Parts: sequence; structure tokens; C-alpha cells
Amino acid sequence: MPRELIDLHIHVGGAVAPHILWSLAHQQGYKLPFKDYWEFCEAIVARPEKVHTLEDYLAIFHQWTEKIQSSPAAIERSIYEIIGKEYRGSRVTQIELRFNPMKRNLGGERDLDHIIHASLRGMDRACLEYGVKAGLLFCLDREFPPHLNEILVEKAIKYRSRGVVGIDLAGTEQSAVELRPAEVEHYRDMYARAREAGLGTTVHTGETHGTGADGVAAVVEQLRPDRIGHGIRAVTDERVMALLRERGTVLELCPTSNLVTRAVESWDEMRHIARVLLDRKVRLTINTDGPYLLDTDMAREVALVVEHGVLGEAEVEQALAVAREATFLD
Ligand SMILES: [Zn+2]
Repeated sequence: MPRELIDLHIHVGGAVAPHILWSLAHQQGYKLPFKDYWEFCEAIVARPEKVHTLEDYLAIFHQWTEKIQSSPAAIERSIYEIIGKEYRGSRVTQIELRFNPMKRNLGGERDLDHIIHASLRGMDRACLEYGVKAGLLFCLDREFPPHLNEILVEKAIKYRSRGVVGIDLAGTEQSAVELRPAEVEHYRDMYARAREAGLGTTVHTGETHGTGADGVAAVVEQLRPDRIGHGIRAVTDERVMALLRERGTVLELCPTSNLVTRAVESWDEMRHIARVLLDRKVRLTINTDGPYLLDTDMAREVALVVEHGVLGEAEVEQALAVAREATFLD
């Protein structure tokens, strides 16, 4: 029997099968500029010849998937389908799904609580059918004005007992590089509030060369997240790796994603990163980030890291054990 897997870093915007998105778009009368299904598929998959940076990758989210998922019915089905697919395809029995509900309500046209309730319904149905454990993380956005991010934290706290297990901070890295004092101060309060309310905390940082190890250190010191999305730039600085080790901060590595967005140049570089992190006793996990957008899944990520010598079999087991320890699920 294949082993059970766990995925801690997967975005709803990159995890729904194209045929489901196509169906949802039509169901809602969404006006698509594609007449043909295959044309649509090409537009929503991050092919290497099309995606050269993290920005190119995120543009696919903003342009298509987030909009198509922007109704209670669409978000419910999206989440339901992701959990089922990950279990059937990769035997993922524990999954933390992240998304920004405020990017699913058409700029306030749809009611945020309706979107959240629908997403929880989708999750509940899938958990019941497949006997898996799942939780939602709400992604704050670095490009959002502070009051919108504050609302997201309040909503995460409000729905904590219903299955929202944590918060994340996503968006492009540019604003993270700056980490303006006022901005950090602001996230610090939000992160502290989420932590006090019993939510898990993670932050996207240290993904591209843009943030570097300093960006990772600033986030760890000031926001004190339980985990970091990517964080691979820490490898360039011994002090930052020591900080991660001391705090026990867990890195959520997403190998295929890093290769597609060119955050990492090659499997050789990925192997080097993993070797250094493991050598310095930094805790790491393997995740998908966006399985359909990146044409991967958890089983494939695990197979790829072994095939390319990034991790040995025993280290894969270790990464899975770290993920089970570091999950925000009960
Ligand atoms: Zn991510």
C-alpha cells in the first residue's frame, strides 16, 4: 500500500483541475476569451516557456483561477475537488489548503462570510467522503492595505473552531524586501493576535534572490511564525540557519514550484540547498504549492526529490515526520 502523504503548502488558486475550472466558468456564465478547452488549459498551466519569474506565475492566478473561483458555489466545489484529488492521486491524508477569501469575493461584490462558509462546506464534504484531515489557512496579502489584512485575521480567528487553522502572508517578494518598519510593526501585531487566538502562522519569504537571508531573518525575528513558505535563501547565511534551528521554524519547501518560477536554477541547486539545510539541522518539509498549475502532485514531488538526489528515502520519511509534527491540524 502506498504511504500516506501530507501537504502543508498548497494554494487553492493553483490546485484545481483545468476541467473543473472550465466547468465552473461555464456554470457561472463567466465570459472566457477561449472558445476551446485546450486553449484554456494552455492559459492556466505554468509552462516553463511561458513563466520566467514568480510574477509571471502569480499573474495566472490573478487573471484566471481566482476570478473563476469567486462565488460560494465555485469555492465550495474547488476545495472539495482539491482534497479528493490529492487523496486519490497521492494518498494525501493531511492537507492544509491556503487561499485569500478576499480574492474570491469580486472586490466585495460577494459576501465574505458566504465565501468562507462555502469553502468550509467543501472541505467538510471531502473530509467526510475520503476520511482525511484538512484545514484552511487564510493568506494575507502584502499588497493589501492594512485594514483588509486585519479583517482576514479577524475572520480566521472567527472561524478557527470551524476549520480555519492558520494564517499566511503571500504576494510578491518586492514588498517583503523593503520590510518598512511601519509595515513590519503592523504584521507583528496581526501575527501576535493570530498566535494568541491559537492559529498556526506561516509567511512566504526567502523564495527568490529578492529577499535573501536577511528577509528570512527579519520575518523570523519580528513575526515569529511557526513555519516559513520556502525560506530557501537562508542557505546563504549561517546565522540565519542557526536562527531557524534555534527557533525550530519549519521550512515549507516546494521544489517544482521553485524550478518553474526560476527561484532555483536547477535540481543541482535544489540538492545543494537541501543538503546545506539538513546539515545545519534546519527542519524542512516537501510540498506542492500548486499541483495543477505546476503539473505535479505530492507523490510526484516525493518521487522527484528522490530521483534527483535532493533527499534520500530516509530523509523523505524525516520530512514527512516533520510535516506531521508541524501541521496546524489537530
Ligand atoms: Zn506558496
